Amino acid sequence: MNDHDDKQEQDSKVFDISNIDFKTLAEDAPVTLWLTDTNGKIIFTNNQYKNFIGREKVDKLGGGAWFNALHPDDREYCLTVFEDAFQTYKPFKMEYRLKRRDGEYRTFIDHGEPYIDGSGTFSGFVGSSTDITEQKMSEDELKKSHEELTQYNHEMNLINQLNSYLQVCRSIDETYPIVSYYSEQIFPDCSGSLYLFHENKSLVESKAAWGASPVKSALIIPPDDCWSLRQGKKHTTLDNDERLRCKHVEHGVKNYICEPIIAQGEMLGMLHIQFNAAYSKTGTDKINYIESRQRLIKITADNLALSLVSLKLREALQVQSVRDPLTSLFNRRHMEESLEREIHRCYRSKKGLGVIMADIDHFKKFNDSYGHDAGDIVLIAFANILSNHFRSSDIICRFGGEEFIIILPETSKNDVMLRAQELCKLISKSENLYDGKLLPSVTSSFGVSYLDGVVKDKNVLIKAADLALYEAKNAGRNRVVLSTNQFK
Ligand code: GH3
Ligand code: MG
Ligand code: MG
Repeated sequence: MNDHDDKQEQDSKVFDISNIDFKTLAEDAPVTLWLTDTNGKIIFTNNQYKNFIGREKVDKLGGGAWFNALHPDDREYCLTVFEDAFQTYKPFKMEYRLKRRDGEYRTFIDHGEPYIDGSGTFSGFVGSSTDITEQKMSEDELKKSHEELTQYNHEMNLINQLNSYLQVCRSIDETYPIVSYYSEQIFPDCSGSLYLFHENKSLVESKAAWGASPVKSALIIPPDDCWSLRQGKKHTTLDNDERLRCKHVEHGVKNYICEPIIAQGEMLGMLHIQFNAAYSKTGTDKINYIESRQRLIKITADNLALSLVSLKLREALQVQSVRDPLTSLFNRRHMEESLEREIHRCYRSKKGLGVIMADIDHFKKFNDSYGHDAGDIVLIAFANILSNHFRSSDIICRFGGEEFIIILPETSKNDVMLRAQELCKLISKSENLYDGKLLPSVTSSFGVSYLDGVVKDKNVLIKAADLALYEAKNAGRNRVVLSTNQFK
């Protein structure tokens, strides 16, 4: 025997474990310990357990105190695990919530082992229970923040996709289905609508809507009916009473947000979201949910604002490039492009195409007598008559000065002439006021050319109308002349 063995021999003499009172040791152990008989009846629990449940309850209910303290939702699960263990004699592990004597539920992990006595007979289960509430809470929090991060990444990814589409939209109209599609993904369980101001800013109109249930909000609203549009900032109602409801929102809708869409200080419209899912949430869950939605709506609205303002600018530039600023009719460049296209279409469709050239008679004299501004009033009125007189498919342009061209696709020669003659009469009868005084009516002369199926150079067609117009002037003005050139 060496020195080390000698030492052990001495120690075991001092701590003779046969003298230890294991019952007292188990009673005072700093974990919950328990023992059952072969039928599952609890025959021993230690102080830790009794202090947790409440000594008086254990005294009164015995083994039943544990079942009584189990969270009602966990009872069935625990019984199943228990029954299974008693049938198979296998070790088991289960997690459950147990009510402490002060009423708070704590989460436990329970380990049970079959207890085999000295003769090798199964005598029940022995086990320990550990309070894992804190550990569980931090696990839950970690899981929650991981979920939140995943959700946030998903939402930002969708917003990036939305932006990528918005950036290649060519008109504001094109953005509506894109906004509707992505808003549905970004705000699931919500209904919503994108409102945009009319040109004159007097009304706001829903241009895109989304969500499984219809948005309970008016389609066209005066800006005064919305708190967010009045204030120029977000308006949220979260289970508020009716007093804070915007007028455009239907009664009974209590969880919603209106977020104005503002770019470069200009209010373009408003994003309106109704939270169908908010009704099933409570407490901090609900507040967190709404706050995260608010952040998301703000990001979406800001992105939309940037795209909409640049598209608005683009549309304005496009209008400027094709419209005459005084009359708002198409300009000469646009007319020439359109005529070329229509000539080709006419060739394919084998339907006729008419060109009317109009020139106001003695307009120089008119200007000299009544002033340039009065002349402008007449030009604008002339343009309005043209716009009202022709079909929307006809192309009306200011060719230059007091000359106008109207292209009439898919029209018979007779109809073109009829339209021109009606117009000639209308012009001569029209009256305009300037500076509170009635201006004398003007007349106009018209030259008409007609293409019947064969592709011609647009300039030939314009020239023919111009020559016919020249003839109308020579013949005494205030009349219509059809070109003798036949383009067949
Ligand atoms: P005619 O019957 O032969 O067509 O005579 P006219 O006087 O109309 O023809 P002319 O070509 O000699 O004069 C055209 C006038 O149209 C000259 C110009 O002052 C006027 N005019 C052209 N553009 C504008 C415009 O934008 N505003 C105004 N007020 N007048 C314009
Ligand atoms: Mg002229
Ligand atoms: Mg003239």
